[in-house]
Amino acid sequence: MDPATISSTDREKIQQLFQQQQSNRTEMARTTTRERIARLDRIAEFLNDEANNQALNEALWADFKKPEAEVALSEVAIVLSHIRYIKRKLKGWMRPRKVPTNLALFGTSSHIYYEPKGNTLIIGPWNYPFMLSVYPLLYAIAAGNTAIIKPSELTVHTSAFIAKMMRQLFPEQEVVVVEGGVETTTQLLDLPFHHIYFTGSPRVGRIVMGAAAKHLASVTLELGGKSPAVIDDSVNMETIAEKTLWGKSLNGGQTCIAPDYMIIQENVKEQFVEAYRKAIRKFYGTTPEEMVTSKDFAHIINDKNFDRLHELFTDAVDKSARVEIGGVFSKEELFFSPTVLSQVTDKMEIMKEEIFGPILPILTYRDQEEIPAIINRHPQPLSMYVASKRRSLIHYLKQETSAGGMVINDYLLGFGNPNLPFGGVNNSGIGKSMGFRGFTEFSNEKGVISRYWDTLHFLYPPYTETVNKMLKILKKWA
Ligand code: NAD
Repeated sequence: MDPATISSTDREKIQQLFQQQQSNRTEMARTTTRERIARLDRIAEFLNDEANNQALNEALWADFKKPEAEVALSEVAIVLSHIRYIKRKLKGWMRPRKVPTNLALFGTSSHIYYEPKGNTLIIGPWNYPFMLSVYPLLYAIAAGNTAIIKPSELTVHTSAFIAKMMRQLFPEQEVVVVEGGVETTTQLLDLPFHHIYFTGSPRVGRIVMGAAAKHLASVTLELGGKSPAVIDDSVNMETIAEKTLWGKSLNGGQTCIAPDYMIIQENVKEQFVEAYRKAIRKFYGTTPEEMVTSKDFAHIINDKNFDRLHELFTDAVDKSARVEIGGVFSKEELFFSPTVLSQVTDKMEIMKEEIFGPILPILTYRDQEEIPAIINRHPQPLSMYVASKRRSLIHYLKQETSAGGMVINDYLLGFGNPNLPFGGVNNSGIGKSMGFRGFTEFSNEKGVISRYWDTLHFLYPPYTETVNKMLKILKKWA
């Protein structure tokens, strides 16, 4: 049996892989900056190889017709840019950090040491199946952990590609891929990992957190939700329509931080819809045939998700939503055209769950107070978008709403700057990743106090009158 490709029933093999990594934990923890960087270099070298790139393109095309340009941008370039960033920063991150000491602890010094959490499990989703399985691994390695990766079973070709890649690059006691579905993930979740890094839906996030509780493993949950986008009448409609279409259509709309629904100032709604229609023609062609065959527009992942989108669409239309644009689909091709719905209400299913596809419901507002009232009816989103030239509106929405992150006058950029933490709030996620926050998510921050001069021995028993007096003074200083 292929060591890195394990059938869902092979409990023993999974146990054995875990034990191998358990035994190797301290070895990994001892790795130096240089050794960790050498591991990251192996990944970069692999991805810079033309044949490997081609194989990844083919895998992602076979899985859901993902356009090559989007593979380059959203799967490969992101991983490579994080490798470059980590390489620049790792030495500093690994160095113990001196922190100030309070007066009561006079005679000591304090440092934060970053030790690896140990054995980690990375569970990936299907929507960016390569990047979201490999990018957390970079931080797991940077922090000195072992990792078992469980990529999504819905993107079998890409999962097989990742398994082969890891087999080529790492011994399995360091990094290994376990392929499989729910049963395999359940088996993995039974094991006492030190940290579980999960990217996926809030529904499965709850299952993962429940399983982690059994071993009190720490978790990072990168989840999803309904990310709102606000547009007011101060911005150029053509420009913002193109940006919105890009944000909503990248990966066929199957992006965790895609704008889920719009809240547009009422007086510019028609103008926005027209500009969006124009942008669709420019990006993907004018006829449904051109769009279906477009190499620039990803299709829906599988029948189940196609049916889910179709149900959301028909439910909204049955409840009187107006189809402003699109509504063209083909189950055979797993194709859903960029679609805009207006006259949308909270009674419609489309306003109750994350859409995860190219359907864009539009709500309108007249007074800015209506905007947070709409947004705050939903759990806190992963991302929030505001397009406006009015600083006062932007400031108001920052204050009145909560989200994992916010992007002003553009879309999706929240994932682009490793100096910012990335992640959700409660229903959209727990914990943060990227950059230093990615490193600390995979590290135990160990506080170390070193005494170099005894100052507290006069407080030891017996508690005489003098000791009590000293304690009173200390209470004021502490
Ligand atoms: P999912 O939750 O269905 O699956 C994710 C992983 O969990 C897969 O590997 C799957 O095998 C496993 N899984 C599924 N059901 C399980 C169960 N019952 N028990 C144990 N494991 C199980 O998510 P998905 O459909 O692959 O991805 C889409 C979701 O992921 C969306 O909600 C999206 O917003 C979210 N997402 C979030 C981010 C982020 O960075 N926050 C990024 C991408 C996707």
